[in-house]
Amino acid sequence: MSISVKGITKLYGKQKALDNVSFEISSGEIFGFLGPNGAGKSTMMKIITGYIPPSSGEVYVNNLDILNNSIEVKRQIGYLPENNPLYLDMYVSEYLQFVAKLYKIKSGEANKCTKEIISKTGLLPEQNKKIGALSKGYRQRVGLAQALIHNPSVLILDEPTSGLDPNQIVEIRNLIAEVGKEKTVLLSTHIMQEVEAICKRIIIINNGKIVADSSKDDLHKYSISESIQTVIVEFSTTVSRDELLKIKGVNKVQGIKQNKWIVEGNTNNDIRPEIFQFAVKHNYTVLSMQQKEMSLEQVFQELTK
Ligand code: ADP
Ligand code: MG
Repeated sequence: MSISVKGITKLYGKQKALDNVSFEISSGEIFGFLGPNGAGKSTMMKIITGYIPPSSGEVYVNNLDILNNSIEVKRQIGYLPENNPLYLDMYVSEYLQFVAKLYKIKSGEANKCTKEIISKTGLLPEQNKKIGALSKGYRQRVGLAQALIHNPSVLILDEPTSGLDPNQIVEIRNLIAEVGKEKTVLLSTHIMQEVEAICKRIIIINNGKIVADSSKDDLHKYSISESIQTVIVEFSTTVSRDELLKIKGVNKVQGIKQNKWIVEGNTNNDIRPEIFQFAVKHNYTVLSMQQKEMSLEQVFQELTK
């Protein structure tokens, strides 16, 4: 396991920001850490990276207990904190060399690492500018570069695309997907498309508690309304709501536009054959019919209400 979190609780005064949180992250994958604002994502990330201590519980990074191996663990982790704090008066390459030295990378080697990471994160055209002069997208690249410079095996990224414009978001996402090929990445976000785009597994946290931990494809299993069948059907002629409600297994009917309906079943039985039989019996033509899958967004909303 790259990261193993066991029974972590964190109290801020009387407030429980994390309540007995446990999860495991295997190596070489990009994990989405999802949750609404205030759920405890940043707190969990600060604990994993050793920036704040937990009130109770244990965290292992590459099988090392973080409390007893804090320096070694920091070498193995790259961390991009929320809001990406940077020294705005420093030049890009100067700052990255400075970070390299903090990791005790020797001078000659530090030069080499800096050059490599500047190229990898697409910072070549901006490397001689002051960080304060960069666009937000490039600042975020600098944040990623400082997290990567010591070639860590684990990357912790706290809302890495927040505040970026849509083009910058895609660029940073691609960069994360690229560097994530050879590392374990834990990435917090509340943007569903982000998770859809780059994460294989998802952990959802709400009010300091884990409410889902699954592969992206299986996440719908956490939904309590998963058992409800929803079908969108379009007829070529006018069909009344009352007629539709009489179909066996149909519970709820909602019109979305002329002759097009959302039909909900009351069990997890497929209601499409019944709808089809109904159309045949009344000589209605079905123009289209499809089962509606629960979106990640719907599952998220249901679990974090
Ligand atoms: P997220 O990153 O998911 O938005 P946080 O981990 O930042 O959530 O916060 C979780 C909860 O802990 C929130 O209610 C927040 O107000 C509280 N909290 C975070 N940091 C502190 C702190 N330093 N002191 C007191 N409360 C805090
Ligand atoms: Mg946060």
